[in-house]
Amino acid sequence: MDYGFETRACNDPAAEPSATGDVVRPLHLSTTFEMGPSSEGEYKYTRFGNPTRAAVESKLARLEGADHGLALSSGMAAISTVCFGLLSPGDHVVAFESLFGGTKAMFDDLLAGQGVEVTYVDATDAGNVASAMRPETRLVWVESPTNPLLRLCDVEAVAKVADEGDATLAVDNTFSTPAVQRPLELGADVAVYSTTKFLNGHSDSMGGAICTDDDALVEQFRFVQERGFGAVLAPFDCFLLQRGLKTLPLRMRRHQSNATAVAAFLADHPEVRTVHYPGLEGHPQHDLAAEQMDGYGGVVSFEVDADAAETRAFLEELEVFDVAVSLGGVESLIEHTASMSAGNLTDEERRAAGISESLVRAPIGLEDPDDLVADLEAALGKL
Ligand code: PLP
Repeated sequence: MDYGFETRACNDPAAEPSATGDVVRPLHLSTTFEMGPSSEGEYKYTRFGNPTRAAVESKLARLEGADHGLALSSGMAAISTVCFGLLSPGDHVVAFESLFGGTKAMFDDLLAGQGVEVTYVDATDAGNVASAMRPETRLVWVESPTNPLLRLCDVEAVAKVADEGDATLAVDNTFSTPAVQRPLELGADVAVYSTTKFLNGHSDSMGGAICTDDDALVEQFRFVQERGFGAVLAPFDCFLLQRGLKTLPLRMRRHQSNATAVAAFLADHPEVRTVHYPGLEGHPQHDLAAEQMDGYGGVVSFEVDADAAETRAFLEELEVFDVAVSLGGVESLIEHTASMSAGNLTDEERRAAGISESLVRAPIGLEDPDDLVADLEAALGKL
């Protein structure tokens, strides 16, 4: 039976039952498992498999509607595992130019060193992806919505392009989660996550995930994850992620309704130049968002009418928002992107990525939306 998303999140009747009948998945900290003649079981050594990890991997797959899920030690571990599992020297990648900075740095600093060339395109138009494809293109890599400018690409159209070129399409779906957008249903081959963000949802566990229906691909990824990088999610983080996933649908609804309230307030404020949020009718890809997503996500970014120092001073005035990088927890955070999450980029790289000195990124938490708006209103009033 195909249970609804919320049932699969909290108490999935189709999940493998716990051997001891626990309602809450037990935490197996053992790194090794008895292998005597009478006791050899499914598990040998935690890097190759652990019951707490198996339980959360199965839940990740069920939520994605995928055949396979892998739980890794960070979002970057998931991204690197996909790339190193798929690519060999001489291969070519087409990537959305608007990407999380860490992904771009890995492509430019590590993949390039392995003889893999990456072409960045404006993937808001799938035609640009098609024009960049080469016979040796093995991977197309996109985010939608992107970090931090909330740009979208038409995943279905990009999937067709990748398919025609015999390339794998991987979508970093961290901002949406499967509660809002399911890339495999849109034709992608692989969905990748930083579970550190909305999936775990409480800013207390670092992790990553890969979901796919492809039996051969998952074996390649598992080999790199377990035998190569050893980048498995630790049992305690699996336990926390399992717990966080139970409330994912509920949290995403509230993240979205709060983000909608904040974006609407900012869009009307005279000290705010631009608001980036796909839920706003003025967002250039609002119609695509409405079609491709179930909601618009919980992250808003905006530009204030101020220079870098004034923008930082505005952040310091906020009381409900915490000034911090990362996103997806129950608490609202805010950052000055140019000096914080994009602080490692050169001025030229930031300009090319569209990150101005007055850009602010605000992942919206679960607080009272009136308090969030009042906090922003008071701080903007001091600009
Ligand atoms: N993908 C996106 C879209 C992100 O925003 C991040 C981190 O901010 C990552 C991947 C990397 O995740 P992690 O920090 O868990 O390695």
